[in-house]
Amino acid sequence: MALTGLEIFKLLPKTNCKKCGMPTCLAFAMALAQKRAKLDDCPDVSEEAKEKLAAAAAPPMRKVAFGSGDNQVAVGQETVMFRHEEKFHNPTVIGASVSDKLSGEDLTKRIESINALKFERVGTKLAVTAIVVSNDSGETSTFAQAAETVKNASSLALILVSDSAEAMAAAVAKTKEAVPLLASASADTAEAMAKIAKENNCPLVVKADSIEAIAELSEKIRAQGVEDIVLNLDVPNIRDQLCNLSRMRALSLRKLFRPLGYPTISFITEGDSDQQAVTAISLICKYSSIVVVDIIEPYMFLPMLTTVMNVFSDPQKPVQVEPKVYSIGEPNESSPFLFTTNFSLTYYTVESDVEASRIPSYILVVDTEGTSVLTAYSGDKLNEKTVSDAMTKCGVEKLVKHRKLIIPGYVAVMSGKLEEATNWEIMVGPRESSMIPKFLQEVWK
Ligand code: SF4
Repeated sequence: MALTGLEIFKLLPKTNCKKCGMPTCLAFAMALAQKRAKLDDCPDVSEEAKEKLAAAAAPPMRKVAFGSGDNQVAVGQETVMFRHEEKFHNPTVIGASVSDKLSGEDLTKRIESINALKFERVGTKLAVTAIVVSNDSGETSTFAQAAETVKNASSLALILVSDSAEAMAAAVAKTKEAVPLLASASADTAEAMAKIAKENNCPLVVKADSIEAIAELSEKIRAQGVEDIVLNLDVPNIRDQLCNLSRMRALSLRKLFRPLGYPTISFITEGDSDQQAVTAISLICKYSSIVVVDIIEPYMFLPMLTTVMNVFSDPQKPVQVEPKVYSIGEPNESSPFLFTTNFSLTYYTVESDVEASRIPSYILVVDTEGTSVLTAYSGDKLNEKTVSDAMTKCGVEKLVKHRKLIIPGYVAVMSGKLEEATNWEIMVGPRESSMIPKFLQEVWK
């Protein structure tokens, strides 16, 4: 259990020297207990006290990474129950499973299908980031062979799933440079699985069917020297799983209960594709750090990945696109020139409507700190100066010969000042983006 402010205070030098930036040692102790200060800020704390205080300074949920190189993924390190309190940090990893009962062409096809699970949504690239090899055969050599084949054919982060310590050891021997996540250690296999994880420097999943049992098991595994742990609460129905995952999260973040201060993993094996996708989405929302499904249809992964994208976006930062000139189609020096703001949703709505007009065009995206047209105008982030500065910075005069700028209908009021600032003719476009195709086809000449 983490130390309280008063317990921390007893370990500090109590000189009130203020070197930490706090008026007293007590104030520093309270700040440390609430994670508002770092232990390093006190230069005079003794080595003996440091060890005890490190527990209080540690994040409430450990960050655990697996996979190697550019495809390493990290989960955990969350600090809040609800996204609006701050933000969530490490997006849920979605994994697709491969059975070791597959072989030859079937195995190759399954791996290729998983590697291809990539999408683009609102300008953001989304992808399945983990591939999961399951020891369904129960055979040691079959599992090791399948794990090696997957490792060689996929660069996704690897998760190995077996209840047999012998099979796990054989598979890890073939894949350890990929730093796989090993799943899972149960009460019966804890010692052997912890030994494999420790010797190969791999993170380990611990599996139990109750919160009490999983807390006890994680402590046991940690005592054996494995620090990177992921929790798998193995309960039969989604209701119990959501309820218990929420309790575990509250105990780790609010009560700083260290045995539960780890990311979590859920394996979804029951149900058809639709049911698995719905279950996965529920678990992404509360509170699985890794969700593994046994499906392959791309259309089922898009809603899951979209949910991850939305849940893990920073609520304090509007999603933005880069301010610059975008070419839609293959515009030339006579093409229409429009501007909009760098709020993602605004930009992609305008972009798709310009595309729908089938008239190649340029869109100048003005930096309004990710706000929409009317919000930016009301907050004076969109005015004749910001637009003319953006035009100069992007060298728009070299792109088109005409001097006509189409502006959003909602800011028609800017026309006069903008015309003076730019010396361009201002054409007031439609208020609604959906009317852009009609405007370009009928009004733009
Ligand atoms: S620097 Fe250390 S000793 Fe000095 S006031 Fe802060 S906590 Fe106390």
